[in-house]
Amino acid sequence: MSDDHRRPRVAFLGLGRMGTPMARHVLTAGHDLTVWNRSPGKTEPLAAAGASVAGSPAEAAAGRDVVVLMLADPDAVEQVLFGPDGVAAGAAPNTLVVDGSTIGPDASRRMAERLREPRLRYVDAPVYGSVGPATEGTLGVLAGGAEADVAAARPLLELWGDPKQVRHVGPTGAGSAAKLVRNLTLGLALAGIGDALRLAATLELPGDVVDELIAAGPLGAAFPGVRQILAAGPPETASFTVDMLTKDLRLCLAAEPRLPLVDAARAVGEAVHADGHGPDDTRALPLLMRDAQR
Ligand code: NAP
Repeated sequence: MSDDHRRPRVAFLGLGRMGTPMARHVLTAGHDLTVWNRSPGKTEPLAAAGASVAGSPAEAAAGRDVVVLMLADPDAVEQVLFGPDGVAAGAAPNTLVVDGSTIGPDASRRMAERLREPRLRYVDAPVYGSVGPATEGTLGVLAGGAEADVAAARPLLELWGDPKQVRHVGPTGAGSAAKLVRNLTLGLALAGIGDALRLAATLELPGDVVDELIAAGPLGAAFPGVRQILAAGPPETASFTVDMLTKDLRLCLAAEPRLPLVDAARAVGEAVHADGHGPDDTRALPLLMRDAQR
């Protein structure tokens, strides 16, 4: 980071559902912002709001103090950091890489290790909440990395979430690890509601009684908004897809294979994907489970 007191110059790579509103907060806070996205069309709204657009991750990272990644999975992060024209080829030594993607602790540690040689710093900072909280700046952020690096990243992280919701969990990979634990509970709650709905349908219980029981029961508390979804169906526009959740469950199993319920939820996610519903919002999952091959 530079020594002067100007705002860090930021590159933001990955302008999907989450990246776009998060990058917008960076711009609104007055940072000089360069953006890059694999599909170039998604840079247009931020370019219209004043961001510069780079032609590659290397070009985006050149001359920046901080490079933020908000990418789909470990392969995407690896390609954007170390592929041809990747961040590692363009960033100056001492640049801080802040990785908001959910990629699991092993991948986070691997990225940090590989960035050591070009002397780039790395903080894993996956977020929880979804597109609504990303737009409002009320995400939770789970950071892992060296004290000084997380402290340097904190002003940016606090653009995405309330300061109390921005936690330094531990060393590199700890933020990614915490994020997996958090999403495990989401996956199990959704799959549990799906099983409950299916049992209720098989037993021919009245829908309103079932909706009430589930919404007021322990899993309903774990999944706010479930009553509305049971009554009105899932949203048409996906915020957090079934495929993303299934990716997270796979990452949980990569870290600890002896998670029988996670393994079952992963298999459900993969079956939903095979039925063509992977891009659906996760809130559709219980209803898809209820109706599968009926
Ligand atoms: P998304 O809308 O699908 O966006 C994914 C981004 O990754 C896009 O910019 C995409 O580029 C890019 N990408 C994928 N593969 C790539 C590759 N091989 N090389 C370069 N870029 C690649 O996903 P999202 O919902 O924003 O999620 C992003 C991350 O945040 C994920 O790790 C997810 O688990 C996590 N997350 C999501 C939510 C949520 O509610 N959505 C909440 C918390 C955390 P293209 O535009 O070219 O496809």
